[in-house]
Amino acid sequence: MAGDFPATGSATVRVLHAGYAREEGDGEHVGSTVTLIQDGNVVVVVDPGMVSSRSALLAELTGVGVQPGQVTDVVFSHHHPDHTVNAALFPAARIHDHWAVYDGDLWISREADGYELSPSIRLLATPGHTPEDITTLAATAEGVYACTHAWWGAAGPPDDPFAPDQSILTASRARILAVATVIVPGHGPAFTPDDSTPR
Ligand SMILES: [Zn+2]
Ligand SMILES: [Zn+2]
Repeated sequence: MAGDFPATGSATVRVLHAGYAREEGDGEHVGSTVTLIQDGNVVVVVDPGMVSSRSALLAELTGVGVQPGQVTDVVFSHHHPDHTVNAALFPAARIHDHWAVYDGDLWISREADGYELSPSIRLLATPGHTPEDITTLAATAEGVYACTHAWWGAAGPPDDPFAPDQSILTASRARILAVATVIVPGHGPAFTPDDSTPR
């Protein structure tokens, strides 16, 4: 379905928190990339974290003029806790994952692939890292951003150690690269894909 996604659009994208995964003296530190996408009245947070400081994350949000209660939608790129545990920071938001929308106590089953959050924001089913992975596409004035865990960062890793079947991840990466001009990966800053990008 991505073929009919607009190459430019009205969304704006801002990385609120660039994720990481690193070993330190006191253990393994894992922070999710947390991304804000806005399109008209639709205000989306992709992957609310784990982060080291929830208050610092919310300060980033309010710093760009968005109150936590104004977030209309939260997207889980997949079900790992490092990307999901902070969803309740945004009390008014509907939650989206690979197979449903969660609104209060309503569980609304649907397929994610092709699901539109706004005219310039769409979900793509991109299994690989896990079977439940989805990518959030946002068409901006400068091109299409893809918020996705198909890459942890610009370097990949080429073979995802979590992926049950690397060939499925490879197919999803190809699908994303066919439409995206900027990748916002699961644990790092945004990057522009090039020939060195693992596929
Ligand atoms: Zn994960
Ligand atoms: Zn992750």
